[in-house]
Amino acid sequence: MSDDEPAVNISGGVEGGAAAEFDPSTADTRAEEVVDRLGELYWEKTYGGQDAFTCLVRTILSQNTSDKASQPAHDALVDRYGSPDVDLAESLAAAERSRLAETISSAGLYNQKSEVLIRTAEWILEEFGSAAAFDAFVKDEEPAEVRDTLLSVRGVGPKTADCVLLFAGGRGGVFPVDTHVHRIYRRMGIAPAAADHEDVRAVLEREVPAAKCGFGHTATIQFGREYCTARKPACLEDPDACPMADVCDQVGVYPATGEVVDPAEATEAADSEI
Ligand code: SF4
Repeated sequence: MSDDEPAVNISGGVEGGAAAEFDPSTADTRAEEVVDRLGELYWEKTYGGQDAFTCLVRTILSQNTSDKASQPAHDALVDRYGSPDVDLAESLAAAERSRLAETISSAGLYNQKSEVLIRTAEWILEEFGSAAAFDAFVKDEEPAEVRDTLLSVRGVGPKTADCVLLFAGGRGGVFPVDTHVHRIYRRMGIAPAAADHEDVRAVLEREVPAAKCGFGHTATIQFGREYCTARKPACLEDPDACPMADVCDQVGVYPATGEVVDPAEATEAADSEI
């Protein structure tokens, strides 16, 4: 585990789910085998059970930053605006924007994020009446409807919507795609090199069994931080340094020259040589 990693996997939450067993020898697809093998590297959990609005707040705070930076912002927000007697959506909708921005400053982009948080809290109150009613909607309605509804809020993108579905609703078959997931499965050759986030999500949700998608998401992020980093993947200097080397196509990674490019650029270069 790197020095940047929090002591607990806060993306998955500590009360979220039960341990699950994954066996690489029974995998039906290469994507499933990768997720099963990640299960040998990292702790295995299934997800769900978090409060949906708290989860939405946490995911907005984590946009474009690390868990390490967003966690103190989340804790400060809950300290200042959360209370057992008050609905968090109500207190955030009534928050003074500059004070909220100052509270969450450790998460970065705090002016923008404070606006999104207040707007989202107002939307929750208008549409559902309370954070508790929103929680019931996320947990009980069809995942596709929940996803579309969340995407209608300005500032909420596909990754945020999928994280709420996964961590709050505990919905199997949801594999949120962040920058690590997007990079790694294209490098491995499991998703097409030019695939966008939505294309990668479609591949993974098709090829990884529903119960393993949540674990696959968080474990791939950890793998991306520890092994398959954006600029210096572990295999660059030593092919044996990566535990996934035998299931990876290394698209855009050139150990002979030490060069690393985005997989989409690797295929462009190959096309231009034809
Ligand atoms: S072999 Fe290299 S490119 Fe493939 S997953 Fe491992 S570190 Fe990433």
